[in-house]
Amino acid sequence: MDYQTILATICAEVQPLLSQGKVATYIPQLAKVSPRHFGMAVYCLDGQTFSVGDADQKFSLQSVTKLFALALAFSREGDTIWSRVGREPSGSPFNSLVQLEYERGKPRNPFINAGALVITDILSSRFVQSDIAILQFVRMIADQPNIDFDATVAQSERETAHRNYAIAHLMKDFGNLHNPVKTVIDSYCRQCSITMSCAELAKAGSFLAQHGTVPWSGAQILGASSSKRLNALMLTCGTYDAAGDFAYRVGLPAKSGVGGGILALVPGELAVAVWSPGLDATGNSLAGTYALERFTTLTARSIF
Ligand code: GLU
Repeated sequence: MDYQTILATICAEVQPLLSQGKVATYIPQLAKVSPRHFGMAVYCLDGQTFSVGDADQKFSLQSVTKLFALALAFSREGDTIWSRVGREPSGSPFNSLVQLEYERGKPRNPFINAGALVITDILSSRFVQSDIAILQFVRMIADQPNIDFDATVAQSERETAHRNYAIAHLMKDFGNLHNPVKTVIDSYCRQCSITMSCAELAKAGSFLAQHGTVPWSGAQILGASSSKRLNALMLTCGTYDAAGDFAYRVGLPAKSGVGGGILALVPGELAVAVWSPGLDATGNSLAGTYALERFTTLTARSIF
């Protein structure tokens, strides 16, 4: 498959879309990024890599880190995590408080903010510093020791984290947060601020395309069964309240973030990462979603 030509085609096709998305503004630091960026990278399980555009430029991973935090928690704690967080699409915005009240503090899934805060809490009980544990995990699976937090983004998010504080306090009241609220929020904000490039992100996600095993090192992060389950959650819950539409258009398990990044997997073949900061109304990268839609159309590689 001539992935390089396909990426170049997609990069040309998305140019008119780059002015249409809107960058996230609720975290002030994210509002400073130009929506005109576009990068895309493919990491094949045989080690071949392909990239186009701004694929080597670092961006704020934001919610994409929820996937790595979950993988780390699942690898250490196994199925016990499901007593504290569900596995159903939420049908409401990623930062909503509404369901939490009538579901007695148990978040719908690990990819909405409430669920990610529970996962952070689980990791905070296990590690002295959960944010450092996640960072080290990401460095290891990306084979890139220079991946880091962006302290300015983390601070910007902490200062405006009123909704996340509200979610955490509500869950604390229901007994589903075991560590102090501030500890969990601080760790979560730092985790969300991790910056990576598309090329790094595709490599980091490749273990989930190879049934839980890192393709280039052979290290087993998750068993094949657990990896299959994370893929399923990505498909059903990984792209906010648009997971149904994303599955319809793209047909791959994926996780997006409000920084404009999306990591998607073709199980058994490759991981593909795309970044374009302009978002659509559902919070997914507008050009990034279109790029992945074109990718599965041009390559005939969807899971369906
Ligand atoms: N740090 C962001 C928040 O909690 C992550 C949101 C996202 O990327 O979905 O609001």
